[in-house]
Amino acid sequence: MASLIVAGGGIAGLAAAIGAARAGHEVLVLEQAPAFSELGAGIQIGPNGRRALEELGAWEWLRHHVFFPRAIRIRRARSGGELGRVPLGEAFRRRFRGTYQVVHRADLLAALLAVAENEPAITLKTASRVVAWQRRADTMSVLMEDGRQATARGLIGADGIHSRVRAQLLGERRPRFSGHVLYRALVPMEDVPELVDTRNVNLWLNPYGHVVHYPVKGGAAFNIVAAVNERWNAGDTWGEPTQAQAVHRIFARACEELLAVLSTPEKWMRWGGADRQPVTTWGEGALTLIGDAAHPTLPYLASGAVMALEDAVVLMRHLAQEKDLPAAFRAYERERQPRTARIVNSSWRLSRVYHASGLMAAGRDAFIRFTSGAASFDRMAWLYDWRP
Ligand SMILES: Cc1cc2nc3c(=O)[nH]c(=O)nc-3n(C[C@H](O)[C@H](O)[C@H](O)COP(=O)(O)OP(=O)(O)OC[C@H]3O[C@@H](n4cnc5c(N)ncnc54)[C@H](O)[C@@H]3O)c2cc1C
Repeated sequence: MASLIVAGGGIAGLAAAIGAARAGHEVLVLEQAPAFSELGAGIQIGPNGRRALEELGAWEWLRHHVFFPRAIRIRRARSGGELGRVPLGEAFRRRFRGTYQVVHRADLLAALLAVAENEPAITLKTASRVVAWQRRADTMSVLMEDGRQATARGLIGADGIHSRVRAQLLGERRPRFSGHVLYRALVPMEDVPELVDTRNVNLWLNPYGHVVHYPVKGGAAFNIVAAVNERWNAGDTWGEPTQAQAVHRIFARACEELLAVLSTPEKWMRWGGADRQPVTTWGEGALTLIGDAAHPTLPYLASGAVMALEDAVVLMRHLAQEKDLPAAFRAYERERQPRTARIVNSSWRLSRVYHASGLMAAGRDAFIRFTSGAASFDRMAWLYDWRP
């Protein structure tokens, strides 16, 4: 019998399995999909995320697949003018003792999978959808969709924003829709028109919408995310490939460079941007949650996956120090809840600020100008200074 079951084999589930195995546990990972795979898209990883990856032993593999942007440029969608920038070069690296990198999600998952597959204490099972769990005296059992069962001393729910494990613990609730629909696309770098800045993370602000783009796959592909105020009633997962009429409408008067970015992809994937309000119960007994199952967030602080990596490192520490599983899980939850709640709440607030118009936009722009360059480092310290 494994000592821990992890329900879900995404970024959080694999990171949790690695952390738990390194703390001395035998781990069984149950992933619903037929293979460990990720939708094509980008992830920004701050120095805190890199530190977590180093702790989990996944950085060595991943570092060959990242791109190091020179800066985050904040720009006006209509004029193309720069409102501010966060330099990510030497000064940033010195201040945060680490690098800022962008990466394809599939590469991040592959890095974690490579470590997990090399870890004899981890068993990985695909096509294993967990539908329910049961707590007995000293064990936790899970029931899978096809009727199979598995039992261990503890259970970690890493099954994402629509977590079954969480729904059984806290009750079924729909995620909180932000009012923003997100479109994302990935294109080969050679398809990107020359006038587009492909060396930096670019954040374009416009009333009712914003766009973020940056290179991934070491610079071989280009990741674009556009968020616009739009109604959403198509469920909460990434839909079928689609056109992006709402994006083209809201950015119709954008500058030439941004129009070139938005006209590059032929198809986009669409998602109703949603999170959940932070809660203070992530578990009971030998059950806990991790990653989006615990604290799904809007992507505006680029921290959802990074929080999952941090979670795994903190969980690893508590599991190594405390042999009693419920005690280790509660200690992990107490340590992680304030930080993750702050990130979720800050991302929600940013969603209001990014799409502002009129006076609110003018105030925002003045603030960005005032706190640009190295002056922005202090504002980010709470996020990037995290250390295991
Ligand atoms: C547009 C966008 C941009 C983003 N950008 C960034 C960024 O720049 N930086 C960053 O850090 N984060 C970013 N994120 C957030 C990040 O993608 C998520 O926070 C992260 O992927 C969460 O990982 P997870 O493993 O917790 O959940 P998921 O990725 O949802 O993985 C859950 C896994 O569990 C499996 N599963 C689900 N249900 C079951 C079940 N019942 N039984 C078994 N298996 C199950 C799923 O198949 C999946 O493999 C972004 C998100 C979006 C939408």
